[in-house]
Amino acid sequence: MMTECLLKVLVVGDGNVGKSSFVHRYVHGQFNKDYKMTMGGQERFISMTRIYYKGSSGCVVMFDVTNADSLVSCRLWKRDLDSKAMLPDGKPIPCILLANKCDLSARTVSAECISKFSEENGFLAWMETSVKDNKNISESIRRLVEEILSFR
Ligand code: GDP
Repeated sequence: MMTECLLKVLVVGDGNVGKSSFVHRYVHGQFNKDYKMTMGGQERFISMTRIYYKGSSGCVVMFDVTNADSLVSCRLWKRDLDSKAMLPDGKPIPCILLANKCDLSARTVSAECISKFSEENGFLAWMETSVKDNKNISESIRRLVEEILSFR
């Protein structure tokens, strides 16, 4: 028998790291570089309301490998999440760290640095993604969903 369940998965991170493109790629299987120009400018971390986090089963925290500041912000995104939301049993919400735009050669963040950051900040795993090249998009969500389901 097949059972279906609906999971709320959040995607957070600084502006311009590729969140909308990621969701669009996952849902529609397409990358359109003109798809959406986010609000203009670099939005940085902003504290979210609890309502936004409510009832979520998992979270993607994304940064851009060509923008070291966007990785630094991931610490704040993760802390904000953990301070405002948890699973019904009180455990933190499973969270995966995605290092997006790995197709670009102008990387400023090394894999070693990301690994350390991921461990220190309680992410279940981290993965390099390229929404542009369709690298690790479905794989990363699969990894997160496996983790979510293993908690149930
Ligand atoms: P958001 O503000 O986090 O939702 O970011 P967007 O999805 O609007 O993406 C910001 C910009 O980065 C857009 O111009 C995208 O086309 C581009 N972008 C997103 N993902 C990638 C990627 O994997 N590689 C490259 N080279 N560009 C990307």
